[in-house]
Amino acid sequence: MTSASGNATGLEVVLSTLKNSHDVQSAVNILQILDELLSAGTGKRICYMISKGGSEALLHTLVNMTRISPPNYDVILPLMHLMVKVGQRDKKFGQKAQEIGTINETLSLLKHSLPHTKYVTPCLWVLKVYASSVATGAAMGKIGIPRLLLNLISPYTTRSTRAIRAATEGLSALLKSKWNSRRAVENGHIHRLLKLYQDWHQRDTQNKYIPIRKALLNCIKYITNIQTGKKAFLEADGMRVLLSTSRACGSNTDLHPVVKLATQIMRRCYPKSQLPVLTVRSCYSFALPNVADQQAPEHPGKSPQEGVAVKEDDEEQDDEDGIENEEPGCNEDDDDLETDLTRLRPNPEFDRPAEELKEYERLCPELVDYFEDLDAMSDDQSDSQDVASCSALFSAPGPHRCKKPRKWRKDLAEENSPKAHNPARSRRAHQTSPAPSDSGRESGSKNDCTPIQDSGPHPVAPSGGCTLNPTGQPVKDMHLKGSADSSKVRLHFQDLYNSKAQSVAGEECARSLDQSWPIGREHALQDTGSKLLEMRKEMIPFHDPYVYTHMAEKTKSATDYKTLAFPDYWGHVPPLYHEPLMGQWCGNQSDKIFEDIQRLVNPGDVLDRVVFDTESPSLVTSEADVSLKFYSNFESGNLRKAIQIRKYEYDLIMNADINTDLQHQWFYFEISSMKAGVPYRFNIINCEKTNSQFNYGMQPVMYSVHEALCGRACWARVGSDIYYYKNHYGRSGAAARGQKETSYYTLTFTITFLHSKDVCYLAYHYPYTYSTLMTHLHLLEELLNPDQVYFRHQILCSTLGGNNCPVITITASPGSQPEQLHQFWNRQYMVLTARVHPGESNASWVMKGTLEFLVSNDPIARSLRDSYIFKIIPMLNPDGVINGCHRCSLSGEDLNRQWSEPSPDLHPTIYHTKGLLSYMRSIDRTPLVYCDYHGHSRKKNVFMYGCSLKETLWQSGSSIDTATLNEDIGYRTIPKVLDKISPAFAINRCLFLVQKSREATARVVVWREIGVLRSYTMESTYCGCDQGKYNGLQIGTRELEEMGAKFCTGLLKLKKDALLCGKQLISQDTALLDFEHELQNVRYISHSDVSVDDEPPCPEEIDYYTDNCTEEDDDPIDLATELNASSEDELEVGKK
Ligand SMILES: [Zn+2]
Repeated sequence: MTSASGNATGLEVVLSTLKNSHDVQSAVNILQILDELLSAGTGKRICYMISKGGSEALLHTLVNMTRISPPNYDVILPLMHLMVKVGQRDKKFGQKAQEIGTINETLSLLKHSLPHTKYVTPCLWVLKVYASSVATGAAMGKIGIPRLLLNLISPYTTRSTRAIRAATEGLSALLKSKWNSRRAVENGHIHRLLKLYQDWHQRDTQNKYIPIRKALLNCIKYITNIQTGKKAFLEADGMRVLLSTSRACGSNTDLHPVVKLATQIMRRCYPKSQLPVLTVRSCYSFALPNVADQQAPEHPGKSPQEGVAVKEDDEEQDDEDGIENEEPGCNEDDDDLETDLTRLRPNPEFDRPAEELKEYERLCPELVDYFEDLDAMSDDQSDSQDVASCSALFSAPGPHRCKKPRKWRKDLAEENSPKAHNPARSRRAHQTSPAPSDSGRESGSKNDCTPIQDSGPHPVAPSGGCTLNPTGQPVKDMHLKGSADSSKVRLHFQDLYNSKAQSVAGEECARSLDQSWPIGREHALQDTGSKLLEMRKEMIPFHDPYVYTHMAEKTKSATDYKTLAFPDYWGHVPPLYHEPLMGQWCGNQSDKIFEDIQRLVNPGDVLDRVVFDTESPSLVTSEADVSLKFYSNFESGNLRKAIQIRKYEYDLIMNADINTDLQHQWFYFEISSMKAGVPYRFNIINCEKTNSQFNYGMQPVMYSVHEALCGRACWARVGSDIYYYKNHYGRSGAAARGQKETSYYTLTFTITFLHSKDVCYLAYHYPYTYSTLMTHLHLLEELLNPDQVYFRHQILCSTLGGNNCPVITITASPGSQPEQLHQFWNRQYMVLTARVHPGESNASWVMKGTLEFLVSNDPIARSLRDSYIFKIIPMLNPDGVINGCHRCSLSGEDLNRQWSEPSPDLHPTIYHTKGLLSYMRSIDRTPLVYCDYHGHSRKKNVFMYGCSLKETLWQSGSSIDTATLNEDIGYRTIPKVLDKISPAFAINRCLFLVQKSREATARVVVWREIGVLRSYTMESTYCGCDQGKYNGLQIGTRELEEMGAKFCTGLLKLKKDALLCGKQLISQDTALLDFEHELQNVRYISHSDVSVDDEPPCPEEIDYYTDNCTEEDDDPIDLATELNASSEDELEVGKK
């Protein structure tokens, strides 16, 4: 650009000459020079020329040349050619034209040129360029240009099509102005435009004039930006016109832009309506304990939907996703980063008096137990413990293995929750917190089939209680399920079970399973039935339907479930094969949208029949009814309502989290009465997030009882035609989290069932209930070798709903030598938690993998147990899990935002977990690692968030000189190892930033207040992986469990002598040894998509975001082509 200044002078001279030229020939010459200059280079030359006053020069020239009469087209045509070329790049071109006064000149020229299409077309394009400035467009409207252009648009013709196209595009540009759109509505132009569009659509059979059709749709699109435009469109039967024309386009890819535009228009004009529920608030509410200092969530029971304004704004909506406040969200920006140095350093402090921490001593029995007298114990003395621990619940048939009694089991039955502050709570906790091993104490001999005893008094209800909204029934106490009438707990699909039992275990078996067979105590009496169950036990390690039943009976739920979901009862075997991600966006989404729009166009087609409603449990369908049957009243179940739309199509509505009107994401329900081989379409119509992995290859999961009883894979990914898009159901201000009025989203998928009359379960993700966890913990304890593994199952506290929150201790059993005991007591702590968000069942599967690995015989597990004591709280939010919530606890709050100041009454699990961590710190045993397992619904792979002072400062662009700051980079060790050894893990998705908005999360509080350097959130995808060994595959329970095991393997790296042991222990994970030097690279540049937690844009255009559809860049007009190819056709001017 050294010659630029020379050119600049030259260019300025040329432009000035042009501007002042009144002579046609010299103007023609200069225009030719300019055209050559601009044709040779890139757009940069045009911008340069604009900066030197090029636009003004051209506009002035037009004024000068139009003064010559008659108009000399030898100069006007090349001039307009340049005006279009330059004007398209100059945002202020219209404004300049207004100022210089060329709009009227152009208009006169246009009128003068009629009907010579050769001269008309350039004028039209120039007008279009002026109109790209909305203010100029409005001014042009006031002198009647839109009407003139509309009159130039004729019905289908093969003549003058270039002029028609230019007129149509010019009109659409003008209609971006709301003033012009309003006039257009008043003058009935919508109707006329629709007629024109329909005519061109029908008669342009060769699809030669797609740009004209597109431009007509753009006119309609801009008019329907305004409310009256939408109304006029509906009144003109626009829906029917656009739907039928779009459907007629079929799958012709040339017509894709036309169909896309038409679809956008139809979706924005679809009248907003309310969700077909009385109130969006959860069907259940939970009366919170009376505490003065709580910030009570909104009053339960209120907020009927009348507050849902369904009015729409004229303004285009730009709704940011404020829903997923998971970890770094997509609307997160650098402003959210903490830059206050005092808050960027761990600054341990206790949030309660030291004496209160003493109560957590009981949760570290390994530090106070005595082991010396172990060997002195006689067999006789240990008998009672033996019974207590071995027949812990009841005796299941089959060989029974008793553990060697250990002295440290002595206090099992005395376990209790920490002393609560509130005496009433304390009493409750006492009553509702029997140790798991306690309940079978009265059992008979261990080889008998032992009936389950109802042990002890019924727990009193928490001071809260559950009610069904909005009927206002008296508060109903939750009570111990099955305590009074356990025979009511039964499987819901008895017939199917019986018939399958017949085929699986023989007729004898089926005969014994009579119709009234309850799940529970009589089980074991039925030999053949139990054979089937025994087979099951062999197939699934750490699962046992007997134990599950018992655990489920003790689980307390808001609705007092009496039914078990078969998958949880029977267990899950992952498929043997990997499930690939679904193909992305095949472009057939419009078919689904069209079906939705069809409901409005032909309401008669729609059945609109409620077939399931949790609020009308008495809803009876006749025997002859052929519709599907739905059910969700079981643990972790979530389906509020099902509405049959067409014969094979259902709208489904999820329930909000208890005490909220939000968080519709988790679903889990039963379907029966299906026909095999028929595609059923399901629409979940009250999703909240603005995007979903369902748009990127994720499928829901389904469990077929038929398949399971045949011994085949259980939960598997299913569904085709999966799309996620914004729908026409409005969300109220509250349900939209204070955002502007916005809409719900639809998740649609199609399932073709394999078997008729099967019973199937559909879920958002592989369910993992609280009772499943309790079963798993029980069986783990039963099956491990107590000589090697010290395993303690204690109760952290009682939840609001009266369930026990377990805390597990795992380490190696000490020897009895003093030095062994000394080593035992000096082991460092590792603290792991999971499932604070109940909808994140993936986190539980990862935790399952961790627990099984830690008690296993794997040499790495042994080595870890020898060095560390693991404290694990596998489910921080049992009530949420049990009641099918997605994110909150019974208080209606996100527990992962309560860590700064947890309330003992409202957030007991968080309060006591923090208490336990504080206790560890108070005795100088701050954990080496803390990790909270989560699930992430909008990202692939598994990754971690940690906390780093320097990385936060770098990312925030802070001016603080980080070179002077010291930071231990040990926080990077684990993610680095996991990246090497775990196929699902991706280090480049990890972030180590401290955000202000996350300061009350476990990760940040444990790092800052407890002082744990390695404090993490580990996020597992719901979807699948896009890197590593599992690239292109969906994640399954096998991969999640593997992640849990690999996480433990990664911890081995922290062992000081990892290199030494590593050589002997690690064969498959040799990568552990290779990366030592890499840890030295100090400065790590954070992954570039730090502020984006969404997927990158899909290769296919995403038009579910229709309310926010962006202006498509108009194709640049090449007027040279237009002019050269100009026909001599006469332009027919509309008569109006
Ligand atoms: Zn989470």
